[in-house]
Amino acid sequence: MTGIGRVIVNTGNGKGKTTAALGTAFRALGYGGKVCVIQFLKGKGDYGERLMAANIDNLDWYICGKGFVFTKENIEKDRVAAREGFEIAKKKVLSDEYDLIIFDEITYLPHYDFLDVEEIVTLINSRPERLTVILTGRDADPRLVEIADTVTSMEPVKHAFDQGIKAQKGIEF
Ligand code: ATP
Ligand code: MG
Repeated sequence: MTGIGRVIVNTGNGKGKTTAALGTAFRALGYGGKVCVIQFLKGKGDYGERLMAANIDNLDWYICGKGFVFTKENIEKDRVAAREGFEIAKKKVLSDEYDLIIFDEITYLPHYDFLDVEEIVTLINSRPERLTVILTGRDADPRLVEIADTVTSMEPVKHAFDQGIKAQKGIEF
């Protein structure tokens, strides 16, 4: 793959932030690119994309979270998991091994004060020239929006969940 890497932010309350990032991973892999996905906050349960990722060469996948449910007792554990994930993120960015790195749900780290947003900005600004990064999650910090090349806010028009329809295997997870 050639060219200068981009900074892409997929945010907003609608569905499609993570799956759009993974669609881009699919593209990069198609041209022989090397891709890393780092998932913050999400737990270790089954997701179709993770099961698939295990079969794809050139795609490395890290899960650095304990799930989305924050309780007072567990918030310190969540903070530690998030910070550990960010240390992995730093190593992966600076390794210069990848064409694309996806930081899935990273917007929640500054939002919950697990990390200063400037740490993310510094890491993005120190990335190898060819590396594209995609950041996903709701409520993207204005600083992330500011430094990004491309920002998309998913707008929920309707979601099955609001009509009481449960998340579907293979579609929502
Ligand atoms: P996806 O992974 O489907 O691209 P997403 O990354 O935009 O969704 P998240 O908030 O990370 O959104 O999604 C967590 C889970 O909630 C996913 O299973 C997703 O499909 C689902 N979801 C996303 N948006 C909504 C919504 N507005 N209402 C209910 N469920 C949603
Ligand atoms: Mg998501």
